[in-house]
Amino acid sequence: MAEREFGRRQLLRLGIGAVVVLKSGGFGLAAADDPPVNPFGFGFPDIAPVGPTPEPTPAPQAEKIEKYKVGEFFNRGDPDKNYVYLTYDDDYTPRAVWQVINTLEQYRNQGFEVHVTFFPAGGAIGQDKGLWREVIARGHKIGNHTYNHPRMDRVSYQGLKNEILWQEYAVADALRQENDVKLFRPPWGLVTNNVRAVCRDLGYKIVTWTGDSKGYATGATVDRVVLTVSADLKNGVIELMHCNNFVDALATPRILETIRARGLRPISIPEGIE
Ligand SMILES: [Zn+2]
Repeated sequence: MAEREFGRRQLLRLGIGAVVVLKSGGFGLAAADDPPVNPFGFGFPDIAPVGPTPEPTPAPQAEKIEKYKVGEFFNRGDPDKNYVYLTYDDDYTPRAVWQVINTLEQYRNQGFEVHVTFFPAGGAIGQDKGLWREVIARGHKIGNHTYNHPRMDRVSYQGLKNEILWQEYAVADALRQENDVKLFRPPWGLVTNNVRAVCRDLGYKIVTWTGDSKGYATGATVDRVVLTVSADLKNGVIELMHCNNFVDALATPRILETIRARGLRPISIPEGIE
């Protein structure tokens, strides 16, 4: 009960923030023929997507993860288990996300179960809300990557809290229910003191990555991405990929072939690391 009351206070505070943003003219209101279904009781504005954002440097690497705690970050799963984690960030190109989940479905139909984790920024959600319901219906997970993809070293505590909650609401609006996964992937993998503090207060675990496909890089090709990811793939690896273009989506079938050939199991975070 205390938790629920705490949540309501947060929602109220965020509601005030949202009103301020609306008054400042930053966002447009949702279309009248698309009534809000946000379970939190107020409409969420659709705004234009932020657009593709390269993810340069991985976060500082943790030496060894003892426990996966709220407010702390991890960058790999259990090295003693054959799990690997494919993750797709940004997701501003819904057709690329559809391509990924349809590819995964083909493998599932062949008896190779594949689940992955998406980290859409909130601005990617409203473009195709049905897509995100399908992602969940097919057993994949959705994490939080902020609403506007700000730099973590330039955002205040309250600013980051709003960013995470806005994304929560955008996902809840699309799913027509609350997203029960509380995983935060900071843009650019920057784990600052604010990131830790906000995630602790909102009940989020922070996840960065072990390997980076670099599918976003200038001149990236499917062949190059397949080589890069194949070099990474082993027990417990969390692989960073993106769905703001098609390179990683198109590389996914060959990556899955490598995973299958190595006897690894592709599953969603937080399975196996709770
Ligand atoms: Zn990102």
